[in-house]
Amino acid sequence: MQLAIIGTGYVGLVTGTCFAETGNNVMCIDIDENKVNKLKQGKTPIYEPGLEVLLERNIKENRLQFTTDINTGISGAKVIFLALPTPPGKDGSADLQYVLDVAAALSKIITTYTVIVNKSTVPVGTAEKVHAVLSQHLDPSLFDVVSNPEFLREGVAVEDFLKPDRIVIGTESEKAKKVMDELYQPYIRQGNPIYFMDPRSSEMTKYAANSYLAMRISFMNEMANLCERAGANVDWVRIGMGSDSRIGKRFLFPGIGYGGSCFPKDVKALAFTAQEMDYDYAIINTVMQVNDRQKLILGQKVRNYFGSDLSTFKFALWGLAFKPETDDIRDAPALDLINELLAAGASVTVFDPEAMENVKQIFGNKIQYAESQYAALTDAHALIVVTEWSEFRNPDFDRIATALVHPCIFDGRNVYSLEKMNELGFYYESIGRKTIH
Ligand code: NAD
Repeated sequence: MQLAIIGTGYVGLVTGTCFAETGNNVMCIDIDENKVNKLKQGKTPIYEPGLEVLLERNIKENRLQFTTDINTGISGAKVIFLALPTPPGKDGSADLQYVLDVAAALSKIITTYTVIVNKSTVPVGTAEKVHAVLSQHLDPSLFDVVSNPEFLREGVAVEDFLKPDRIVIGTESEKAKKVMDELYQPYIRQGNPIYFMDPRSSEMTKYAANSYLAMRISFMNEMANLCERAGANVDWVRIGMGSDSRIGKRFLFPGIGYGGSCFPKDVKALAFTAQEMDYDYAIINTVMQVNDRQKLILGQKVRNYFGSDLSTFKFALWGLAFKPETDDIRDAPALDLINELLAAGASVTVFDPEAMENVKQIFGNKIQYAESQYAALTDAHALIVVTEWSEFRNPDFDRIATALVHPCIFDGRNVYSLEKMNELGFYYESIGRKTIH
């Protein structure tokens, strides 16, 4: 099938590449010329495991192409995917301008029947809005608008796309349903379902899923804070509750707040939708408050230990990305922590395997960037673990203790065992567990 993907970011690039992988001809369109030039050479502008191999292969087979020109880009496409940004506006609502502007442009260039798919995360009612914009210049018989939210996780995006738990498609059109069913068949060979539903339910499903996961994280963060006060260990509590099959083990790890490009903005957007509909979605408002508080918790622990004036202290941060296996730092808790430390006068040296370049663009020379995880430690008064990359899980603790001024670790992800920290003589604070000193 001839496909066009408009927006070639984390979602669009993975979508386009994975559709090409099953034999479709895919044209990816983006307004960012640098990005498109890089992609034409088979280089991915983002770090996403497994993506580059597929990209190179499909470019070589002429199934995957890139352009900045929407006119030639959509030519012959049976399906056009919109994988455009939907950032939060000032009031928390999802900003639909990117999506609606592209819909307006499409309304003037589509000439034969095309399925327009919203892959961006968009609020309830957006399919109708896109339909209205397209209808201004286009006969409704020439298109259908479909909602098809994306559930991939950065870091395992390729695997998630190729083997999704489920595919959700919102459409009332039998014609569009048939096209989407044909397109997705290769991805559900293991028997996972495609759920066809109305567009409003489909749009809401994405917000429900992300907000529920954010709520689980906030619930456990609160539980961790309570465990600290009650002398309980949140790790045991997590294991004890998560082994109940009604609850499940995943998404119960406490930490320093959820971040990334999706959870914060999607929870906000759901709260806004509720407000618009005059509904007090109390639990969602609390999830946001809890997360704002949790993002500050590690900085507070550091200040409680070293004092509120940190101007004579240096800290080494391991991990900047909002989670491991990505270079994405959008709304990453590391950014709040760095700001907090800098505001208290501290000097900060950071290391992350993939996210350093992105952080440089925000902090420039306000902080130092280390060549390696160990180089970051030299003369630091404490190591602060922010993102649980695998290489931080079992480090050389002797090297850490020697490089640091004090053997002192603040761990925002509970990656080290209390017994080990005790045995090695570290001062060690984590989340929801007792302090070792
Ligand atoms: P992104 O910022 O990485 O990518 C968006 C791309 O769109 C950019 O490359 C940008 O240059 C391009 N763009 C902007 N305006 C354009 C235009 N007029 N024409 C062509 N290209 C244009 O964003 P993303 O992370 O891929 O997210 C896209 C959507 O998917 C959002 O709604 C997001 O909420 C949703 N989503 C994201 C994820 C994720 O993990 N990142 C997962 C599921 C859903």
